[in-house]
Amino acid sequence: GWLGMITGTYLILFYIILYWFPAYMVNAVWMVNPLSLLLSGNPASQWFLYGFIYTLAILVMGIRMFRKYRGNKYQQLRTASVMFFQTAFAFLIPEILVLLNQPYYDFKNIWPLDYDFFYDYQISTFLSSGGVGMFMLIWGILLIIIAVPLFTYFYGKRWYCSWVCGCGGLAETVGDPYRQLSDKSLKAWNIERYLIHGVLVLAVVMTLITIANYFSSFSFLGNVTNQLHSFYGFAIGSAFAGVVGTGFYPFMGNRVWCRFGCPLAAYLGMVQRFKSRFRITTNGGQCISCGNCSTYCEMGIDVRWYAQRGQNIVRSSCVGCGVCSAVCPRGVLKLENGPEEGRINENPILIGNDSIKVNA
Ligand code: SF4
Ligand code: SF4
Repeated sequence: GWLGMITGTYLILFYIILYWFPAYMVNAVWMVNPLSLLLSGNPASQWFLYGFIYTLAILVMGIRMFRKYRGNKYQQLRTASVMFFQTAFAFLIPEILVLLNQPYYDFKNIWPLDYDFFYDYQISTFLSSGGVGMFMLIWGILLIIIAVPLFTYFYGKRWYCSWVCGCGGLAETVGDPYRQLSDKSLKAWNIERYLIHGVLVLAVVMTLITIANYFSSFSFLGNVTNQLHSFYGFAIGSAFAGVVGTGFYPFMGNRVWCRFGCPLAAYLGMVQRFKSRFRITTNGGQCISCGNCSTYCEMGIDVRWYAQRGQNIVRSSCVGCGVCSAVCPRGVLKLENGPEEGRINENPILIGNDSIKVNA
C-alpha cells in the first residue's frame, strides 16, 4: 500500500543521492566521521556512511528475523550468519586493513559480483602491497574457480546467497517484509533467465577485454575497456544493483537484483542446476495446496506446483532461504543435500503435459 510506496520512493531517492549527488549527504557523513577515524584513520566518505547504514539495517532487521522465526533453527543460524559476515567481513575488516596500510578488501566478495576485481588499478594495488596483496589476489581467484563450484556442489547456492552475501543479507533481513511481492508468472521467469545470464555474459566479456588490455599496449583496447567500465559501473553497479535492486523491494519483492541481475547468482545457479547435491524434497501426499510456499518464495518459484506432484525442487534460482519450508503448515518441504542420482524425480503419470515446466 501507500507505506510501501513511500518506503520504495525514499530508498530510490537515497540511492540516487548516494551515487550521483553525494554533496547533499555531507552532514550525514560528518556524523559518522568519528567512527571512520577510529576504524581506518581516514575521514568518512559517503561510502563509509553507506556501509554503516547497510550494516546497521541488517543488524536491526536481523533481530526482527530472530523474533519472527523463533523456534526455527535454520532461520536463526542463517540470520546470524549474514549478520556476522556483513559486520565483520564487509564493514570492519576492510576498514581495519586500511588502518594497517593494507588494501581495502572484502574477503567474501567474489567476481563477477565484485566486478572491478580484475580492473588494472585493483591488480596494481594487490601487486604493490607485498605478501598481503598477493594473498588477496590469489584468494579472490581461488574463490572463483574452486570455492564456488565446490561449495555449490555440496550445499547448493544457499551457502553464499542466503548465508554469506551482503546483497542476500540485506534482502533476507530488511527485505523480508516484501518477499511475497515477487512475481510468480512464467513471463517473469523468462525475463529473469535472459536478463541474469545477459549480465553474466557482459561481466565476462568486460573482464576478458580488461585482462587482454592489461597485457597489451593497444590503445584501441584501452578505449573499449574504459567505455565498458563506465557503462557497467553506471548501468549495472549503480542503477541495477543499487537503485533498482534495493529501491524496488516494496514494488517487486526483496530479491530483484539477486533474481534478475546478479552475475554471481547466475554462475552459482548454473552449478546448482546441473551439478549439485542440493534439492528441496516434497512429500506431496501431505500438501493441502494452501499456497503459502509459493506466496513467500522470494525468487518467484511456484513451489506448490512441485509439492502437489511430489517432485523435488531443483531450480537454478532457488537461494535456499528455507522460508517455503518454514511457512508450510504440513511440513511438506525439506531442504536437503544428497546423492545426485534421483535428484530430479520426474513422475510422468502425475506431471502429464506439464513436463516442460518441470525441466525449467
Ligand atoms: S524455493 Fe524455498 S528455499 Fe528456494 S528461494 Fe523459494 S522460498 Fe527460498
Ligand atoms: S505450504 Fe505446504 S501445504 Fe501449502 S501448498 Fe506449499 S507445500 Fe502444500
